[in-house]
Amino acid sequence: MRIVFVGAGYVGLVSGTCLADFGHDVVCVDNDESKVDALRQGRIPIYEPGLDDLVARNVQQKRLSFSTDLGECVRTCDVVFIAVGTPSRRGDGHADLSYVYAAAREIARHIEGFTLVVTKSTVPVGTGDEVERIIRDERPDADFAVVSNPEFLREGAAIEDFKRPDRIVIGIEDERAREVANEIYRPLSLNQAPILYTRRRTAELIKYAANAFLATKITFINEMADLCEAVGADVQDVARGIGLDNRIGRKFLHAGPGFGGSCFPKDTRALAETARQIGSPARLIDMVISINEDRKRQMAEKIVAACGGSVEGRTIAVLGLTFKPNTDDMRESPSIDIISALVEKGAKVRAHDPEGAEQARKVLPDIEYADEPYACAAGADALVLITEWDVYRALDLTRLKDLLAQPVICDLRNVYKPAEMARRGIRYYGVGRGELR
Ligand code: NAD
Repeated sequence: MRIVFVGAGYVGLVSGTCLADFGHDVVCVDNDESKVDALRQGRIPIYEPGLDDLVARNVQQKRLSFSTDLGECVRTCDVVFIAVGTPSRRGDGHADLSYVYAAAREIARHIEGFTLVVTKSTVPVGTGDEVERIIRDERPDADFAVVSNPEFLREGAAIEDFKRPDRIVIGIEDERAREVANEIYRPLSLNQAPILYTRRRTAELIKYAANAFLATKITFINEMADLCEAVGADVQDVARGIGLDNRIGRKFLHAGPGFGGSCFPKDTRALAETARQIGSPARLIDMVISINEDRKRQMAEKIVAACGGSVEGRTIAVLGLTFKPNTDDMRESPSIDIISALVEKGAKVRAHDPEGAEQARKVLPDIEYADEPYACAAGADALVLITEWDVYRALDLTRLKDLLAQPVICDLRNVYKPAEMARRGIRYYGVGRGELR
């Protein structure tokens, strides 16, 4: 099957490469020439574990290629996936669909023979209808069907998630689409991935509902963490105590600095905005968004409190900048707001991140960057752990204590044990561990 991906970003590149690995013939098209040039030279423009080898293998076996010429690729393909970005629109939080609609228009101009157009980007309910209308207006003669196939992969574990998904959701309005979709995903059915067929609008909503639910779960445990601090309880145990109940589940119950990244913030905003526009407000989601916004400021206050009430003129060492480990993605990372707030309060920030420094420099240009964690800590008045990369999980605490000017560690991911820190004479502040009482 000949497949084209429009957009060779985190989703398009990973999904396209995995489908090539399953034996399909895939071209990833991007209008960013530098990205396509890099890919053609064997350089991967993003950090995603295992992706470089998988791309190299499939390029070598001639199942995967890269192009900037959408027209030529669409003319000869059976399926076009739209995997372009849908960031928040400035001002109102609605999803900016201009990239999706531009792609649809361009695809329309080049369709030849029956073509399945699959929206993989996360898009609000009704976008599939609009994509269909755009293509039909542009090319009344075109033979095509528009399908919604939202993507659930997680950055950092994207290949495994794509190859072994919990489920594949496909929203169709035209029965011809089912056969083609089955053929695309047949290799995954051997991995026992259930395919859930729904109407198109339902599939679009499933993606937002999933992300909003997960964001709510994180926000819930963050509130419990605050309560734990106030009453002297331990949120790690609370999370375990409730998570062992199968109706609740243990995942996404890690208290921390609030959710961030390229999906949860923008998708919760887009869902809330859709709900508002349609006259069926999503009050719970509105609240989740607002609590999460406050949380990042609250984390900065926590660090200030740990430093004795002021960070003016102090040096704060930060470990981990990306919104989660194993990615270089800095989009809406909590570290941005936390660090900005500390700088505003007069702190000098020095940071380290194993893979995210290059992206971080674009959004946090005025802080200092260290090459490794201990150099980051040297002489600092406090150490703050924001992202739980593996390399930060077994730090030499004695060495850290000797390097720090003040033995203060704020662990916003609860990687370490308070008792272990106390034993070493480190003033340790986790999240939700009742330690500020
Ligand atoms: P991204 O910004 O990494 O990639 C988008 C790519 O599309 C860019 O490389 C851009 O140059 C390209 N592009 C834009 N318009 C184009 C056009 N007309 N022709 C060719 N290329 C074009 O974005 P992403 O993180 O891959 O996200 C893509 C979509 O998938 C979004 O809707 C997102 O919400 C959704 N999604 C993302 C994730 C994730 O973890 N990143 C997970 C699930 C779903």
